[in-house]
Amino acid sequence: MKLIPFFSVRLTPKALSNSLIGFIVLVCILLTLATGWQMQQSANERVDAAKVSVSNIVLAAEQLARDTMLQADNTLQDLAERVAHDGVNPDQQIRLTKLLARQVERIDGIQGLFIFDARGNWVANSFSHGLQTKNNSDRAYFIYHRDNTSQSIHVGSIVESRTTGDMVIPISRRIEASDGTFAGVALATIPVAYFQNFFNRVDVDNEGVIFLALNNGELLARRPTVAALMTTNISKGEIFSRYLPHSDSGTASIKSIVDGVERIYAYRRLSDLPIVAAAGVSHHQIFVQWWSHVTRTIIVVGMIILALAFLGALLYRQIQQLLIAESELQVAQSQLEIIAMTDGLTLLANRRSFDITLKKEWGRAVRSQSSLAVILLDIDWFKQYNDHYGHLMGDDCLVKIANLIAQSINRACDIAARYGGEEFVILLPETELAGALIVAEKVRMSIAQAQIQHLASPLGIVTISSGVIAMCPIEKENQKESLAQADRLLYCAKAKGRNCIEAASYSRETSLG
Ligand code: GH3
Ligand code: MG
Ligand code: MG
Repeated sequence: MKLIPFFSVRLTPKALSNSLIGFIVLVCILLTLATGWQMQQSANERVDAAKVSVSNIVLAAEQLARDTMLQADNTLQDLAERVAHDGVNPDQQIRLTKLLARQVERIDGIQGLFIFDARGNWVANSFSHGLQTKNNSDRAYFIYHRDNTSQSIHVGSIVESRTTGDMVIPISRRIEASDGTFAGVALATIPVAYFQNFFNRVDVDNEGVIFLALNNGELLARRPTVAALMTTNISKGEIFSRYLPHSDSGTASIKSIVDGVERIYAYRRLSDLPIVAAAGVSHHQIFVQWWSHVTRTIIVVGMIILALAFLGALLYRQIQQLLIAESELQVAQSQLEIIAMTDGLTLLANRRSFDITLKKEWGRAVRSQSSLAVILLDIDWFKQYNDHYGHLMGDDCLVKIANLIAQSINRACDIAARYGGEEFVILLPETELAGALIVAEKVRMSIAQAQIQHLASPLGIVTISSGVIAMCPIEKENQKESLAQADRLLYCAKAKGRNCIEAASYSRETSLG
């Protein structure tokens, strides 16, 4: 309901130009904010999508590691029980060797299976038949099982296979004799390359990373691989030092301690194996398309803002020019108004101006019941002046008389005007006859004392005659009659010999001489 008056408001040009600038600035700010917000949203969406993607990769890596290791462990469990139960006499060794070779073929990802006796001697393996003279008692996993009665799976750090020379991950179990003493170790080896081949098939960018590591931070497999994979420990990296102590899985933005690349990582500690799987995609990869999108958007929005600013500047300039034109018009108009109200020769108010003022003051006097006086002045023998001195001198004389009249009135509300030809009029609001007579006499005296030569006049100088009336106007319509009365009084003064004043208080009913 209140919108209608709002829309019907007419703005001034200045308010219009200010509103225009405000509106354009507001549009630019809103556009920038909206674009920034949209960019931020799209960046967040990309990060969220990257988190989902790396989390899925981690799940796949975890699944592969778990499947392979637990399958290997099942086999190791069977082997450990068998060895504990049946012992490892030469017959058993031959059977075991065949069994191990079959199992290796059956289980995907396992490179070799080994049985070591309590001293670390090779008892059976999936590679070779016959007597083995090698000893593995120096291996960390062997020492672990010898010194540790734990019956659970043990995943060791990467070792170089003594059979193939490949880097392998040892998965092992302790073999116990029936009396609980240490009887050896059952070992399965998974080549690091098995995981790395899988990682290489996963669709991540060149800077992306996938790794498996032991709980202590030792790397088991990594894409991209690192030269010193066997000896690389990432326990000081943020995943191990900052995030895993608080949560077994999650996502985080981390700078890699291996290659220094900033990535969004997903990490996960396997619940039943001492292993951590993680995958990361680089910020660069996440934002490479985003940046090109941002660049394009910034260019488009920048162009829109520039266009708006240009349009605004153009309109602002037009409005400023309109403002200048309007103020020039106003000046010209007020000059015209002055010209329209001023007598061109004497620069006194003209007849039109006098009529307007008289009407106004008449009404005021009617309302306030105050007295109003009019002095009508006429230069004596002026035709003769013109005839004697010429019109130009006559004009000069009119100007001089006008100045003298103007100088003789002091109050701001008094007005002297050129009534026509060589006639002048003075309007004195709130003035009684006595006061008006003083003014009329002052004017007559000042003109007489100016001693303007007038050889064609019997008096030898320029003089004036005046008709003065004062009245308390009752009706608004009898101004003309009052002026006619002043005119009659003026001619009385002329008749009396000129250079004199005739006055009367005037009302509707009476006329006092
Ligand atoms: P009176 O004493 O009876 O007033 O005689 P007068 O000659 O002054 O009066 P009259 O009305 O016969 O003549 C007025 C003269 O004033 C006529 C005209 O030449 C002169 N006059 C009127 N307006 C102008 C003007 O603008 N410039 C000049 N130079 N003369 C003017
Ligand atoms: Mg006259
Ligand atoms: Mg005259």
